[in-house]
Order: sequence, then C-alpha cells, then structure tokens
Amino acid sequence: MADRLPYGSGRTSPQRRAIASMAEELGRAFTIDDLERALRRKGKRAGVATVYRAVAAMEESGWLERVGVRGSKALYARCDSPAHHHHLVCTSCGIVLATDCPLEFATHSAKAEHGFTVTEHDVTLYGVCRDCRPGPELGEDGD
Ligand SMILES: [Zn+2]
Ligand SMILES: [Zn+2]
Ligand SMILES: [Zn+2]
Repeated sequence: MADRLPYGSGRTSPQRRAIASMAEELGRAFTIDDLERALRRKGKRAGVATVYRAVAAMEESGWLERVGVRGSKALYARCDSPAHHHHLVCTSCGIVLATDCPLEFATHSAKAEHGFTVTEHDVTLYGVCRDCRPGPELGEDGD
C-alpha cells in the first residue's frame, strides 16, 4: 500500500503518466474538466474521455480520491490518509484536508432508535480554509 502507483497494476502510457503528474501538481480538489484544462495549458492535450478514464483508474487504485462535488461535477484530489476519514474542501482555493469521521454517534443511534444498520456514508464538509478566511474588513475583528 505504501508506494502506490497512480494506476496500480493497470495500464499506463506516456499520456496517462502526464495526466497523473498533472493531478499531483494541481495538489487541490479538481474536476475532470479542471484537469483537462490544466493539461491543455501545458500543451499536453488529452480528450475529456481519456482524462475521465484515467481518473477512474486512479480512483480505482486508491491513488486519487473522490472528495466531494462542485455543482454537479465530482471533485477529486490526492489524499494519503490511510484510515477512514472525511474531507474538508475549501470552496475558495480548493485545498483538501482530512478529518476524522464525525458519524459514530449517528451510526449508533440509527441502530438504537430505528434498528437501522448503517452500511456506508458519504460526508464532505465545505467551507473556507484559514488562508482564505475573510479578513477583519469583512465583519470579523480578529481574535
Ligand atoms: Zn482522503
Ligand atoms: Zn482556501
Ligand atoms: Zn465516516
């Protein structure tokens, strides 16, 4: 698990390697369109379908994670947290931070109150990171 390759044991090609290194370079949450545009800016054209398949393969290998959504588009990011966790996604700069699971209590009470067994959940917390936090002129006056 340690030295994971972007495509695991799957197929690679120079184009797929370029897509993976751009995903790494972006370093923040991106949609498939963002990644395709970033590649194009670097003169490394890849069709959206190619990028889509590459991203699906990288998600499959666990190298890339789906961290949330922007509008109707899935957001992806590199994330190395090995244990079960969730993501804090800054809607301003796109930085992605890992956070512990907040749902233990909800899972227990679903069982206790409703006899409902939770088998999976999906939580992303969206907000504004420390660096993007509005300054005092926008209504806060510091600590
Ligand atoms: Zn993660
Ligand atoms: Zn931010
Ligand atoms: Zn969780």
